[in-house]
Amino acid sequence: MFIDVTEIRMSPGRTFHFDMEEQVPPLTIENDEVNIEKPLKISLDIRNTGKLLVFSGHITGDTELACCRCLETYPFRFDYEFDEEFCHVSDLAAVAEEGQNTDEFHVFETNRIKLDDIITESILLGIPMKSICSENCQGLCATCGINLNNNKCQCEKNDIDPRMGVLKKFFEQ
Ligand SMILES: [Zn+2]
Ligand SMILES: [Zn+2]
Repeated sequence: MFIDVTEIRMSPGRTFHFDMEEQVPPLTIENDEVNIEKPLKISLDIRNTGKLLVFSGHITGDTELACCRCLETYPFRFDYEFDEEFCHVSDLAAVAEEGQNTDEFHVFETNRIKLDDIITESILLGIPMKSICSENCQGLCATCGINLNNNKCQCEKNDIDPRMGVLKKFFEQ
């Protein structure tokens, strides 16, 4: 996805607003494939400060994640905000002279700014790596592996006798 900043660059002091949708391909995050079925919604303000273009964006999207306790998939909405500064290559020297750290900017050369990397980064940062389907998720039984959210298993009976519980703890150490 590209943004044409020709008009914005000619308008110091002004802010432009964009509402966009973008379909993104599946991403692989730590060996898990994350599919984002519907297009992402991107709301973006671009402010021309004179020498810099300041992008303030808000990205939302729906996906499915696997719960790390019970391993079931569940719907997840991510919601991520970003602020990024862009400097045209011709303004870089002037900005550096003002004492600003130019490492903090993205430098662009044409009037078409590519947003793909920012979008991908937002997804990576907006999706938790270790997530649970609900605070009350019971997870899987450590003994038989059954999903305790929907089922009861016989293993729990081991804990009925408190003396056995102490012994059990001893052996678990
Ligand atoms: Zn769960
Ligand atoms: Zn069990």
